[in-house]
Amino acid sequence: MADERQIRLLPPELQNQIAAGEVVERPSSVLKELVENALDADATRVRIQIRNGGQSFIKVSDNGMGIDADQLELAVTRHATSKLESMLDLQEIRSFGFRGEALPSIASVSRFRIASSREDGEGSALEVLHGRITRQDRTAMPRGTEVEVSDLFANVPARLKFLKQPATEARKCAELVTRIALANPHVDFEFLNGDRSVHRFLSGQDLAQRLAAIWPREVVEALHAVNYADGTFGVTGLVGDPAMAQARPDRILIYVNDRPVQDKVIMSAIREAYRGRILGKESPQAVVFLQIPPDEVDVNVHPAKTEVRFQDEGAIFRAVRRAVLQTLEDNFRRPDIVDHAWPLSVGQVHQTLPAMEARLPEEFAPSRFDSAQSASSYEEPWPQKFPSSTAAQQLFETPDSTYPPASPSAPAEPHPPAPGLHQYLGQFARTYLILAAENEITLIDQHAAHERILFNMLRTQGSHGQRRPLLMPLEMPLHTAQSSRAQEIWAELEGLGFSLELAPGPRLLINSIPALLTPSKAREFLEDILTEKAISMDDLWAVMACKAAIKAGDILSADEALALVDAWQRIPDKDYCPHGRPIALHWGVNELEKMFKRRS
Ligand code: ADP
Ligand code: MG
Repeated sequence: MADERQIRLLPPELQNQIAAGEVVERPSSVLKELVENALDADATRVRIQIRNGGQSFIKVSDNGMGIDADQLELAVTRHATSKLESMLDLQEIRSFGFRGEALPSIASVSRFRIASSREDGEGSALEVLHGRITRQDRTAMPRGTEVEVSDLFANVPARLKFLKQPATEARKCAELVTRIALANPHVDFEFLNGDRSVHRFLSGQDLAQRLAAIWPREVVEALHAVNYADGTFGVTGLVGDPAMAQARPDRILIYVNDRPVQDKVIMSAIREAYRGRILGKESPQAVVFLQIPPDEVDVNVHPAKTEVRFQDEGAIFRAVRRAVLQTLEDNFRRPDIVDHAWPLSVGQVHQTLPAMEARLPEEFAPSRFDSAQSASSYEEPWPQKFPSSTAAQQLFETPDSTYPPASPSAPAEPHPPAPGLHQYLGQFARTYLILAAENEITLIDQHAAHERILFNMLRTQGSHGQRRPLLMPLEMPLHTAQSSRAQEIWAELEGLGFSLELAPGPRLLINSIPALLTPSKAREFLEDILTEKAISMDDLWAVMACKAAIKAGDILSADEALALVDAWQRIPDKDYCPHGRPIALHWGVNELEKMFKRRS
């Protein structure tokens, strides 16, 4: 009895079978380990064959450096590896394998054969059945290594049960080979399912040529290169035309240091770059390779190494988003925005006011202004891709294509009052609009009124702010406090329409700004916002409305003034600006009579 309670080491075969549970899940995971071993051995040609979805047979042969005859037994021994000598190496992993687990694990759950040679001529071979070496001999072969895995999981019925139909397992194997082939263009890959050659990737093909084997031609033809370097990070790859976005997220392929991975940080950075260009439920096509110093990424999270952990997720996110965004902006830019939009000098801004009602939601836009109609023509490229409403788009589109305002011949005078509206008499002190109704006279603070209109619209549209990409990013030096403040409200700023990036310094790189603001106003806005402490969304909108609104001192034409009054008339809370100051002052006839002492 006492014997049974003694702690004993598990027999090695059992240890390996347990380890196999982690690494070897299905034929494609076996394939992954074998192909990565071939690449670690500097092979330039890798030939892969499977039968029956890989369950009956997997063979991987390469022309790599091979294994010495006296090392072959070690290669199938647990924790034996030629790739790692100390914990120090573990922090700087460059090769695919490093645990020395794969071959013994695979060999413990299959009928396994490995043959290898350091040079053309004679090599040595080893056969293993369910973890026990059954045969060792010499064999004639060229330089390289050949591994055969037969009857996978025959001794682990529980695993066998979980395998899918052979066709499904075969598809997973083909996918795996392709993913690896995309990252290794200098290597020649051939993949055979049974005796049928499924993929042949010739060495020297570029990424697009290899993608053409798996993606439709029109998708591949619409890809554009990503090429970005930022300090120690590099981001390369290809990304698709937003117009070709698709329902399934199955064409986003991510690599870290040429290792295919599933990674949420990079995935969301790619999606973020496409935000506003595709619908939230759509997915782009993207193949993204991140190069990063090995000590900044932990690839040792999972035995199958498809997950990684980054030291600085934020930096990775920003680099990838920036990289993809740059390609999108360079290749899929809306010409209307960049060609006509800015720069307008700040002094000119108020002159765009007649066009302003095209920024207003439909119910606010006075129909008598031609600019409101012509503004819609330049929304053409994107509207169907935008989740936001037409009203919100109008709000955030500045119809600069109609600048200077259309209908120069339209008579400015006289101005009949709109229904229930005052008659516009003129501007006083370049700040107040004078209106007369039957029984009262009104002074409107033009800035406060415009501010309130814009504030209401910002609030209605929430965080779907249209962004205006800048040809040249703006730079803004930050204090440390401002930089942490920026990070706190990053999402809100992005929601307003900014695309920002933190650079060393710290500096803020401004790549896009809300369409409502000019570049200089956008900068002012950020300066204000980043020095404030606690800020609610309402506060952000208020500051933005304030920056975007016409100013006291701006001369308004009659048309401009009327457009403003018209819009202001229609908003619900028109008496006070977002800061609580009154927008309008009224004097009724009775009041005036008292003031003039016409009546007592
Ligand atoms: P790891 O790759 O983690 O080192 P493996 O069990 O996959 O562990 O492989 C064990 C060792 O066998 C490797 O370190 C390598 O030295 C050798 N080896 C495996 N496959 C090959 C191959 N195709 N070519 C050359 N050497 C190989
Ligand atoms: Mg390995």
